[in-house]
Amino acid sequence: MNGWDGSDGRRRWLAAALACLALFGSGCGGPKRLPPVVASSVAVPGFKPSVPALLGIGLAEGRGNLVLTAGGPSLLTAPDERPPLLKRIPAGSRLTAERRGPVVFWRSGADSGAVASLRLAPQDPQDLVAFEDRQYRGDFLVLPTPGGGGLTLVNNVDLEAYLAGVVPWEIGRHGEDATAALEAQAVAARTYTVSHLRERADHGFDLFADVMDQVYKGAGDEDPLCNRAIRRTRGLVLEAEGELVEAYYSACCGGTTSRIDQVWPRPARTYLVDHPDAARPGAEPFCSRYKYFTWTYTWSRSRLTAVLQGTLPEYYRAYSAGARGRWAGPVFSPQGGDADPLRPGELLDLEVLARTPSGRVADLAVTTTAGTYHVRGDRVRWVLSRPGSDGGILRSALFDLQVDRDEHGISKVTARGHGYGHGIGMCQAGALVMARRGYDFAAILDHYYPGTALVRLQTGSGP
Ligand SMILES: [Zn+2]
Repeated sequence: MNGWDGSDGRRRWLAAALACLALFGSGCGGPKRLPPVVASSVAVPGFKPSVPALLGIGLAEGRGNLVLTAGGPSLLTAPDERPPLLKRIPAGSRLTAERRGPVVFWRSGADSGAVASLRLAPQDPQDLVAFEDRQYRGDFLVLPTPGGGGLTLVNNVDLEAYLAGVVPWEIGRHGEDATAALEAQAVAARTYTVSHLRERADHGFDLFADVMDQVYKGAGDEDPLCNRAIRRTRGLVLEAEGELVEAYYSACCGGTTSRIDQVWPRPARTYLVDHPDAARPGAEPFCSRYKYFTWTYTWSRSRLTAVLQGTLPEYYRAYSAGARGRWAGPVFSPQGGDADPLRPGELLDLEVLARTPSGRVADLAVTTTAGTYHVRGDRVRWVLSRPGSDGGILRSALFDLQVDRDEHGISKVTARGHGYGHGIGMCQAGALVMARRGYDFAAILDHYYPGTALVRLQTGSGP
């Protein structure tokens, strides 16, 4: 996930959408709990978020046509029409849909028609539906892409079944000894999901099925241990101060977690703070054996110049105005009156001017013949994208820079860093080690989201 772009609308929605909640009792513990744990059953007056019966997960947008398959006997309906039933179709039926003007044109066997929207729903909830070689629980809704051409495909699925298609892709597949980490991941992903519902409403669904929200690949490749972790934590989410927690997580914090408002243009949260990812200050970090706990990248002068020609203008456009601009402060000081921040020119210097208390780069000054850019917080990972051919963003903002020079100026730049991801909230590498050392999932969650409480929502039956 890299979901720092969300709005704050969900809290208003949550406040309005209250329903039943049961407090998390003390009987759900794992094998043992080493440190004292705060997360427990706490009365939370006024905290009653609900979960809709079905979430809408966006699988495709703007497609000219879609080919869907019914895994079992299914109903083809037009939800906006009366009567809605179009056709009963047998197992294995193929359904095609294409956009024609304002409507969805469908074809199944010898039948076809045009409707405002189209639903494909198995009659037996155990049966699956398929799209592009992937199978899904729940049903499919096809609608014209809001505000654009083509079709949008939404998978309507209950929260717990959705998580079964998320958890193994977000934390990986692990053995029995990682059970508590899988359970912690299930709670974090569930919390993230419920707290981000409605943010994509203008797309016609709740969440994207990729790193814009959480990676979701349906029902065809679930993991038995992840499914068990989801069942054991069914309905559990994290709460703090009467609201759902913003349960961000990333692969490896590099030894110390991030405070959210210091790395993203987002409000501070009492539980998203920087602290050592260790059993006690000074101890070896839980995540120290992770493959990207330490990393090194080196850019040649020509490579770095080429990278910055693309990334500095992109950064300037995104962070020189609006809410991001207010968070970032001044991001460009021109060298001369006619300097254009969208044309960086030659690289002259690179220097870390400020760091967050966790050691992450807070202000990277990049001086070019056009002027000096101040790159703030986690965005430094996009501006200094990796030198390799994949062009991925830098592993983390927790790094030192070495700038080598020759008679022509900068000859190469080396970044030596720690961790992979933004470092906010749960460190997945650390959570896996904590699980293997015997911490239960509540202790893991309390370590990464300190001061939060577990509460149980009413949700569907799941995997
Ligand atoms: Zn860590």
